[in-house]
Amino acid sequence: MPASRSQLRYRCGCWTAWRYEMEFRGVFAPSLRLAGKALLAFAVLLSTYEVSPLKAQTCGSSGLALQVLGSGGPELQDKRASTSYLLWDQGIARVIVDAGGGSALRFGESGAQMSQVDLVLFSHFHIDHSGDFSALVFSSWFEDRKRPLPVYGPPGNEFMPSTREFVSDLFSEPHGAWRYLSELVGPAKKGSYTLEPHDVVAGSKPVLVFRNSDLAVYAVRVIHGGFPALAWRVEMGGKRIVFSGDTNGEGDGLTQLALDADLFVAHNAVPEGATGVERRLHMPPSVIGTIAANAHVKRLVLSHRMLRTLGSEKETQAEIQRHFSGPIVFANDLDCFPVR
Ligand SMILES: [Zn+2]
Repeated sequence: MPASRSQLRYRCGCWTAWRYEMEFRGVFAPSLRLAGKALLAFAVLLSTYEVSPLKAQTCGSSGLALQVLGSGGPELQDKRASTSYLLWDQGIARVIVDAGGGSALRFGESGAQMSQVDLVLFSHFHIDHSGDFSALVFSSWFEDRKRPLPVYGPPGNEFMPSTREFVSDLFSEPHGAWRYLSELVGPAKKGSYTLEPHDVVAGSKPVLVFRNSDLAVYAVRVIHGGFPALAWRVEMGGKRIVFSGDTNGEGDGLTQLALDADLFVAHNAVPEGATGVERRLHMPPSVIGTIAANAHVKRLVLSHRMLRTLGSEKETQAEIQRHFSGPIVFANDLDCFPVR
């Protein structure tokens, strides 16, 4: 029998309970608290001098905006969360694209609520794109969500689970890793929160995957070595935001998907001249620049930054500019890109 939400809350409230108990016992002495307040005031004073393009919590408060939750790849030494993006519309977090390690923390820092989210899209199931999905789901368990959460991603093969298998492997009874949340994958009940995974079989031409009154989502199959992978386009308010995901850039499906995109998020995982496995999995700057130019994208955001590309931004930008003359931005965690 799965634990109820209130039981789970109780199990997870240990830190708060401990802190209150310590305060009650006087362990957090008044003088220490005063010192803490002074430090906080100093930090606030310092932060007013910080030059920041947009405070994370204000991302998308008016209009459509992309927030980068994770701008890194799999390496923890890049000191970035792994791949994840959040689309905001009028201050509401609507779509999550990928959920790599660290993105759940960034999601919390962004001020978003999982109960607001309409869709989760996965490019593929490497850990740096999916590792924090369970953390996001468990967090949402504590919110009062009363509708299903559709999850779209690629089909599986011998290397990767399909999207349906991925969700089932995590939460289904009897063998799911976190089967204590199996209620989430049970038969959908009206007015209840369940996960609705879908395998998206896309070809080399963009296909419509989801549409509601103000949101349309398209996918195209991209080549990422032998791993089933998708690139995504989200359309809202007449704007197009395109996510390359991880791909070596083969074929012209991604160019078609990115046609006239207002924002094109491409993954800068390898430097120019990369060979072997790196090149079979990822596109170098010249390929990114060619796709961005052929698709006439309005703005290029470079993410999935790795140790092998960090520090080479000047060279990367120069290589891309040999092909693409529009604006280029290197993403950092929690950066907010309004799309107007
Ligand atoms: Zn990756």
